[in-house]
Amino acid sequence: MLGTMMDVPLLLSSILRHAEAYHSDGEVVSATVEGGLHRYTYGELSKRTKKLANALARMGLEPGDRVGTLAWNGYRHMELYFGVSGSGFVCHTINPRLFREQIAYIIHNAADSVLFFDLTFLPIVEELAGQLKDLKAIVAMTDEAHMPKSEALPGLLCYETLIADEPDSFEWPAFDENTASSLCYTSGTTGDPKGVLYSHRSCVLHAMAITMPDAFGFSAADVIAPIVPMFHVNAWGLPFVGAMVGAKLVLPGAHLDGASLYHLFEGEKVSFTAGVPTVWLGLLDWMDTHGRSFTSLKRVVIGGSATPPIMISRFHNMGVKVRHAWGMTETSPVGLAAALKPKHEALEPEAKLALECKQGRPLFGMEFRVAGADGQQVARDGKSFGAMMVRGPWVAASYFNTPHSPAHEEMPGWFNTGDVVTQDEDGFIQIVDRTKDVVKSGGEWISSIELENIAQAHPAIQEAAIVAKPDARWGERPVLVVVLKPGASFTRADMRAHYEGKIAKWTIPDDVVIVPELPHTATGKLSKKAVRQIILEQISGNGPEAFMS
Ligand code: ADP
Repeated sequence: MLGTMMDVPLLLSSILRHAEAYHSDGEVVSATVEGGLHRYTYGELSKRTKKLANALARMGLEPGDRVGTLAWNGYRHMELYFGVSGSGFVCHTINPRLFREQIAYIIHNAADSVLFFDLTFLPIVEELAGQLKDLKAIVAMTDEAHMPKSEALPGLLCYETLIADEPDSFEWPAFDENTASSLCYTSGTTGDPKGVLYSHRSCVLHAMAITMPDAFGFSAADVIAPIVPMFHVNAWGLPFVGAMVGAKLVLPGAHLDGASLYHLFEGEKVSFTAGVPTVWLGLLDWMDTHGRSFTSLKRVVIGGSATPPIMISRFHNMGVKVRHAWGMTETSPVGLAAALKPKHEALEPEAKLALECKQGRPLFGMEFRVAGADGQQVARDGKSFGAMMVRGPWVAASYFNTPHSPAHEEMPGWFNTGDVVTQDEDGFIQIVDRTKDVVKSGGEWISSIELENIAQAHPAIQEAAIVAKPDARWGERPVLVVVLKPGASFTRADMRAHYEGKIAKWTIPDDVVIVPELPHTATGKLSKKAVRQIILEQISGNGPEAFMS
């Protein structure tokens, strides 16, 4: 017997309609590519989004057609998020930090019909012009005064002109909530990038889930600054949440350095922000150097890669609460958030910090399974580890236009995250490593993340990576690769002294390599693949003279 409740679809346009009706005076502030801050309200956002929807309708797109964006966090990108998806098309956010060949592959694999881009990315679009001939239109997200003259892009359209004469009324269509809304490709650290095709239902449910207090916890009183880019996994759902709860949104545009972020946060009284550890390192270092403190920031969510304990402590010392979270492109992204339970308040500070450093406990809606080598669930004792499988209404069941996916085939109905984890009795999950990053020494596994976190706390070290070095006796041995703080020195003896007493002796790295900088992926994470390459070059004698003795 079916329930007798209304069957109202969960659509992204319903979030915009809600914002228009009840938060029309809520502010959206954007640092623009053209210079200066742009500010308007959810009411104006809604009107301009309807103008955009009318312009898209005129372009002759079919339902489900993909509309690509190469853009920063800004108000026009917000209009595309809601206007494209709300119309029944798919908003395909493209990560401009990917290699050109990957961007070309992605646009081709997605078969985008239209491409919108911020002026910063004109050189990328011009370089790819030859491969974009089949597109219905290419649109520069700017006004006539800033329109570039581009010989490579003869029919280039201007966003403001495109929407200028359109009516600001539009009836958002109703359709099945499982209709595709947005498309984002993984960073392609292993093989070609793979498309994750979100639905209206998955985006709305995910936005509601992260709004819960033990997830990110939002209300209309918040001033939210999504520093995580809108070109990767929908900026962790924050643009949708902002409109849903009516919080002021502050969008940083291209300005992600410590000084710009600090001034934006202080100027706009930002209370909540979210991003990857690398960005926060830049902000905290700049603040230390310039003797600054926060006056409005209360909470920060850090995720995307492991948060070093020292970073949590630095934020705490500035009066900012940290919530560590875990996610993937395939999980929309948020699946875990490290919110302590009331009983944990009585813990000693060190034990509390250790818990806050875990990736977190499952949000309602997400199911996790930690499978040992035999495929069976391992004990929930915080020690036994296995491969983390996940399923839920905002987890990808397959990839777009990519039929074969081992991650989905190993255990039908589950997605293999590629993370090796432990889980304790309260549900807190801790990543021991990426399956491909653990150091396998003498039949035992050494967690590269644990060794990196310890190294990161040393005063001479700016950034640290642990990678495996092939070893005739043990199979693999860990090597520490570091960038030092300006003027600092660090020897192998310093390294041993720093690790001794903190970890089992046999897991202490064999060597330390000092490099001027560490390679990062398109999403700002350490590229272990590239760091491993540095080590291999060292061994073969082709690398720079960097080994300490
Ligand atoms: P990619 O395309 O590189 O997979 P994702 O953003 O989807 O990009 O990355 C997902 C992976 O990032 C996760 O499987 C996990 O290994 C890592 N990750 C995400 N959040 C955390 C975190 N809080 N701590 C440690 N690793 C994390």
